[in-house]
Amino acid sequence: MIVTRFAPSPTGYLHLGHAYAALFAYNQAKINGGKFLLRIEDIDQIRCKKMYVDEIYKDLEWLGIQWDEEPLIQSNRMLVYKKYIDLLKQKGLLYPCVCSRKDIEQELAKLGSAPHKGETFLYPGICKGKQIDLSHFDDYSLRINIEQSIKIVASNLYFTDLKKGKIKAIPTLFGDIILARKKMGVSYHLCSVVDDYLSGVTLVTRGSDLFESTHVHRLLQELMGFYVPKYFHHELIVDQNGKKFSKRDASFTIRQLRESGIASKDVIKYIKENFF
Ligand code: GLU
Repeated sequence: MIVTRFAPSPTGYLHLGHAYAALFAYNQAKINGGKFLLRIEDIDQIRCKKMYVDEIYKDLEWLGIQWDEEPLIQSNRMLVYKKYIDLLKQKGLLYPCVCSRKDIEQELAKLGSAPHKGETFLYPGICKGKQIDLSHFDDYSLRINIEQSIKIVASNLYFTDLKKGKIKAIPTLFGDIILARKKMGVSYHLCSVVDDYLSGVTLVTRGSDLFESTHVHRLLQELMGFYVPKYFHHELIVDQNGKKFSKRDASFTIRQLRESGIASKDVIKYIKENFF
């Protein structure tokens, strides 16, 4: 049976892009007699707000989207994630890192590859292989040793994207990413992979902005012995000026549309006719 999910982060009101993503996943499940799940990705407790969670429920109800099980709330599941962090630790694949952003920037500058503002960079491995007495540090993160992880997996990894076909995963894309932090809990990558697995999701539908993440997720699945769902990375929908809808500029929130008195069926029709 096909199982899809919509996994918003409650850091703002949902906009048309989210409505499209939710309707898309819901449709995929319903036309195939499957299940549609809702997951609230609220592990970043600084940026996520309870009021946005309430609005997500209202928005989805307004759009006629019903989820088939109790929504999964990630902030309640820290013990579940910890179990998988421990599993990776036991395999010797995680190492503690006490670097600040400044430490990393200085190291990268030394190596002649300082990132420009807003640019992503690969962690240059400062703490890798070091014995660090963590009792001196208030906070630290756990990074995955990607090189070693790839070695233990041995063979090439693939995933299927329904639009792009069979894709060879390149788990090195982001380097030694952080999977957990002493203070801040667990990273999106780990939670997403664990939850999709434990909820029995068979088709992960999400925006093409997360396509690269899937390469890393594929490695995590392999390391933890999980089955591999299928993927569909959909285009991000854009406004009339070709600009991506974003929570930051409060563009076309579903809440605004709801409160404007417009009929939800017209919004659904607009999304289906223009973007499906
Ligand atoms: N929480 C992510 C977002 O709101 C989606 C993650 C996913 O679908 O894997 O963009």
